[in-house]
Amino acid sequence: MPRPILATIHTSSLSHNLLRARQAAPDAKVWAVVKANAYGHGIERAYEGLRGADGFALIDLDEAERVRRLGWRGPVLLLEGVFEPRDLELCSRLGLWHTVHCDEQIDMLATHKTHQPHRVFLKMNSGMNRLGFTPQRYRAAWTRLNALPQVDEISLMTHFSDADGPRGIAQQLAAFQAATQDLPGERTLSNSAATLRHAADPAVRADWVRPGIAVYGSAPDFPEHSAAHWGLQPAMTLASKIIAVQHLLAGTSVGYGSNFTAEAPLRIGTVACGYADGYPRLCPTGTPVLVDGVRTRTVGRVSMDMIAVDLTPVPEAGFGSEVTLWGRAANGTVLPIDEVAATAGTVGYELMCALAPRVPVVVA
Ligand code: PLP
Repeated sequence: MPRPILATIHTSSLSHNLLRARQAAPDAKVWAVVKANAYGHGIERAYEGLRGADGFALIDLDEAERVRRLGWRGPVLLLEGVFEPRDLELCSRLGLWHTVHCDEQIDMLATHKTHQPHRVFLKMNSGMNRLGFTPQRYRAAWTRLNALPQVDEISLMTHFSDADGPRGIAQQLAAFQAATQDLPGERTLSNSAATLRHAADPAVRADWVRPGIAVYGSAPDFPEHSAAHWGLQPAMTLASKIIAVQHLLAGTSVGYGSNFTAEAPLRIGTVACGYADGYPRLCPTGTPVLVDGVRTRTVGRVSMDMIAVDLTPVPEAGFGSEVTLWGRAANGTVLPIDEVAATAGTVGYELMCALAPRVPVVVA
């Protein structure tokens, strides 16, 4: 018997979440962001649920190749563009659209002997300060690109740094609008948070939105809002089973470091899931978990292959009982990945991406 741990990718939830993004940004086209192996879900698996998107946005060329191999003929956008001149060959061969965010990428295009003209997304650094031309330098970059025979279409792009936070998007939006107002071309600005929170504004939804985390069913602005608030469904469930039951006496502890001590007798279950499966070691005692679909808590330190859970709320649970680390239990109860991530001081993004290769994955 294999170890009883399993991740399930819910393709119908991916489709549902994609629809939510569409509803939030009516008339805009939707890039489903599938970088980082579709946020840990697996490109091929995610494609099943996301093929209703208008395009796929990602970073790695090999992932772009995988999307093409799946038979996708529509738009594919490289969010960081090319890294070296020979990447442009592949862009031509695979018909990829690519971001241009620096002079070096324009230099590469200028010397590229291309048979097929390139469609590029010129990125503005409107305040994120990671990639892109400043508003002051944006027009010059556009003019340079526009003069290249290698380029046949230029779209305009920026990325918000705080669409999920108190700063919001106003400043960056204003900078983008001011610097692009008389430039032709399609525009794209919004990640999940901007799409869900601000895309009622036509300038924010523009021609394309670029939701990532929302299509995987996690709230971009947790804890201010939950995934349920946005009508999102978890696209990944991580489940395991209880492989042993222990009875702690008052004053005894469980796990490495003995950092949880029972105040009263406590029945606990040992679960076949640990940090080597991608469950965060930083999750403290009290992290929510479902046993047979009933909410309870972890106790003690997360080890490499195991964690312990308090069985008090589920007296009938025992060896073989279902444990949901995040996602949807068999009885339909949902444990949002965002809640688990928050106890470890991180975000749902990181947990999804960190699902370990040793965890078997099925599509449902
Ligand atoms: N657009 C760009 C340029 C990104 O880098 C990302 C991800 O970081 C996204 C869109 C999607 O962001 P999110 O997953 O927050 O929706």
